[in-house]
Amino acid sequence: MIRGNKIAVPLLTCERHEKRGGRLCNGVLVTEDRESGALSFGVVSDIGKDCESSRAAYQPDRAFMALDFGLSTLFAGDDGSLPGKDWLRALRVYDQRITSIARGQQRHGRKPRDSARYREAVASLRGWIRTKVGRVLNALVAAKRPTALVLERLNFQNPALSRRLNRIIQNCGRAVIRAKLADFQDRFGITSEEVNPAYTSQTCSCCGYVDKRNRRSQSTFTCLWCGSTMHADVNAARNIGQLRALSIGSAFQSKASVLAELVRQFRERRVRSTRSGGRSSTADPRSTNPCFGGEQAITARMSGQTKAPNLVLSTLT
Ligand SMILES: [Zn+2]
Repeated sequence: MIRGNKIAVPLLTCERHEKRGGRLCNGVLVTEDRESGALSFGVVSDIGKDCESSRAAYQPDRAFMALDFGLSTLFAGDDGSLPGKDWLRALRVYDQRITSIARGQQRHGRKPRDSARYREAVASLRGWIRTKVGRVLNALVAAKRPTALVLERLNFQNPALSRRLNRIIQNCGRAVIRAKLADFQDRFGITSEEVNPAYTSQTCSCCGYVDKRNRRSQSTFTCLWCGSTMHADVNAARNIGQLRALSIGSAFQSKASVLAELVRQFRERRVRSTRSGGRSSTADPRSTNPCFGGEQAITARMSGQTKAPNLVLSTLT
């Protein structure tokens, strides 16, 4: 390329673009991919007119739908749906391919992004994520017709994948979901909000008991207090919806204050449930649960081991 000279870039159309409709604007969007260094060109269309009619036609069926980006499924709905269940297998295949090309490049002292094969593999992974996320969210919105979507602060990572792949899907997944959410807002007036992810995987969505040990494995959640068992990601999605209803866990609240609020609300509920029968199981899981430091102090003091100077009497319910 010579500076000042014009270049011609052929633009390919795709089904998504054709379906989108709207009026073509006099401008082209050029973006550089940070991972692969590839340039991409896109035409810009004004869909304002189309959106007005689709927004007017959209009839919500429920107030909101909560979604979790989980460890084993990537996606879970508060209605128990797990639309991303098979994603991890496919991501692992991408991971192996991308990691092996990157290693090969590094062995020869070259940067991964200098390899065309590497750039192609990353671009193909991105396309796959865009398609998958788009399909899942479209299907959810079409089936559930929510007024709002509630999500955790987007954390698109999985311990079963390499650091490199996690970095790629984290950046790309976030961008894809944000774009999709903006599109929903334009087209259907669906709003979206993010809640704090603190303790959504450790809290029981049935009784509100917080305990790290509630999470038995990556996919199983069994509450030590009430015994409820369900898919860990579905439990998290339900918590996300409940956090919103309880108006705690704003995206900027500290982890400690979210925990303090969860523990306080659990204690309040427990007072009520004890009066109406309560829990019959043997050992109290709170006595060995660091989240319930207060109860631990009480137990310790009662057995005469230590004196707890910060004991708050109102916790003796
Ligand atoms: Zn429970």
